[in-house]
Amino acid sequence: TQLIKPRIREILSRELPPELVDMLPKHWVQIGDVLILPLRPELEPYKNRIAEVYARVIGAKTVLKKGRIGGEFRETNYEVLYGSDTVTVHVENGIKYKLDVAKVMFSPANVKERVRMAKVAKPGELVVDMFAGIGHLSLPMAVHGKARVIAIEKSPYTFQFLVENIELNKVQDRMTAYNIDNRDFPGENIADRVLMGYVVTTHEFIPKALSIAKDEAIIHYHNTIPEKLMPEEPFATFKRIAREHGYETEKLNELIIKRYAPGVWHVVIDVRVFKK
Ligand code: SAM
Repeated sequence: TQLIKPRIREILSRELPPELVDMLPKHWVQIGDVLILPLRPELEPYKNRIAEVYARVIGAKTVLKKGRIGGEFRETNYEVLYGSDTVTVHVENGIKYKLDVAKVMFSPANVKERVRMAKVAKPGELVVDMFAGIGHLSLPMAVHGKARVIAIEKSPYTFQFLVENIELNKVQDRMTAYNIDNRDFPGENIADRVLMGYVVTTHEFIPKALSIAKDEAIIHYHNTIPEKLMPEEPFATFKRIAREHGYETEKLNELIIKRYAPGVWHVVIDVRVFKK
């Protein structure tokens, strides 16, 4: 995210009605060589030309209009405003992430968590990533943390990028990917660490995470929490469900990842679980 470049303003102020110039996006997201531009409705009639100028000045091959992320697969459906190729390789923290920015989510706001996961992973431990996406969190654990990783991703389209990213980052010897619903994953009592990088309904997957975890393990549990339920949540729900399944819990850490909606936060807790 940057401030608008004077050059963009200079070019477009010659072409747009003056009252629209101040509405030009001041912030954008760049993933690889694709830009995601938030555009006010007033700018619709000029959207393709605006996108072209941003692409030329910033140096991007494709520009997408920012839209919503939704559904079970957390897919985006961003309109292409300029260019045509929406697949790119984004490099962050020494990791190569190949993805289709128009269809697959990659949240710049989650960068701290991707960097943190690279540090918490330990050589040789077994991590199961229940919601792998393109390997957002588990690639850093395999590459920098030298952990062994089982990455589960249900969407067939996203899964193709996960497989490519394992090869691009040369961690085929440590990382295995499954294109299944994590509830159908057969492994039990195997993981030193379980990643639950999902939102909205993550609590429904706690029993499965516990069955994948060893008798003593760490679970990185994400969820979206209404502010009025914090700070008790999300740990209270996790603890209750774990207890019902015969596990004691200890909260090691709690971090806010980002604002998800008005009054709702995306939060992660690190929980140590022990079988009673
Ligand atoms: N964990 C990454 C992160 O936090 O940046 C990626 C998160 S992405 C929002 C969640 C991914 O979980 C999506 O790619 C979605 O397709 C996948 N997913 C959703 N439900 C699933 C399930 N039941 N089993 C396996 N994958 C699932």
